[in-house]
Amino acid sequence: MSVSHHKVVVIGTGPAGYTAALYASRANLAPLVFEGAQPGGQLTITTEVENFPGFRQGVAGPALMDEMREQVLRFGTTIKSETVLKADLQSRPFKLTTDKGEYTADAVIIATGASAKWLGISKDEQLSRTGGGVSACATCDGFFFRGKEIAVVGGGDTAIEEATFLTKFATKVHLIHRRDKLRASKAMQERALKNEKIQPVWNKVVLDVLTATHETPMGEKVEKIRALKLKDTVDGSESELPVEGLFVAIGHQPNTSLFQGQLPMDETGYLQVEKGSTRTTISGVFACGDVQDHIYRQAITAAGSGCMAAIDAERWLVDQGLAE
Ligand code: NAP
Repeated sequence: MSVSHHKVVVIGTGPAGYTAALYASRANLAPLVFEGAQPGGQLTITTEVENFPGFRQGVAGPALMDEMREQVLRFGTTIKSETVLKADLQSRPFKLTTDKGEYTADAVIIATGASAKWLGISKDEQLSRTGGGVSACATCDGFFFRGKEIAVVGGGDTAIEEATFLTKFATKVHLIHRRDKLRASKAMQERALKNEKIQPVWNKVVLDVLTATHETPMGEKVEKIRALKLKDTVDGSESELPVEGLFVAIGHQPNTSLFQGQLPMDETGYLQVEKGSTRTTISGVFACGDVQDHIYRQAITAAGSGCMAAIDAERWLVDQGLAE
């Protein structure tokens, strides 16, 4: 099998990967991008994006990602629909094995993102893709729940933060947690529990998301959440909680299994980069977007760090005499 060599390989096609490719291609580095198992990343599973600057009426997540894709192609990026299965970052040049071939790269930009954890009941993930009232991002989708009664699942900082944020829109936020003690930091807990719009629902897990069929003005039929079926974790009893929205906030999983044992990660698996840059501990390997950021996790911050990664990679290649 022939091995093709590239100056820069970008792994991932969320806002971070595409922005890294955009800047690298405009710097004449002809980057190769692997789009992986979820082309376009997390934004392809949201509906409307209203907080990405430049779109006064908002933009559909998949449409935004299509625009980014076309933009990088215009400047000479090559995109391959391949998933990287192995990354050897100890050799020079770096070696990457995908489901279809072997590649080498002088510099690698990791933009593999993070995936929201779902409840493990197929309905929640499915409804999040179809505008059915389920989401894993309050900042992205909270606005759509103005005047509605909704639920947040989780007991960590994210759940508390999301529940608090959602009180700006919702009439009531049921905070469903599987235990009777929150994992979130004390200060955040206290503030949230004082908020009259937040109603804790202790010792409960979601067994099912119950839906009703609605007809859109265009005559299209859509399934939307109408209630949650809950199970008590102490006595096993089951109940129904009527809500018009569900936010799943049980953590994110950074997509870093490829780099285990090669790059330092924090205790939850996020890649660690040098402060104020995208440099990892391996010279020539850069990380951007959600794979190295569990704090902001926004499309625009991911895009910003993708730009940083391309600039860091370009400067590194020039310093190494691998680019002009
Ligand atoms: P997390 O701390 O891992 O909390 C996840 C929560 O979801 C836990 O309460 C857990 O319950 C619950 N959970 C997990 N799996 C579940 C399931 N299948 N069904 C029901 N509940 C489930 O995740 P996170 O809240 O996303 O936070 C991740 C990291 O980011 C943390 O280090 C956090 O401190 C940090 N963070 C910080 C801030 C901030 O400082 N502003 C904001 C957000 C996140 P148990 O408690 O029973 O395990």
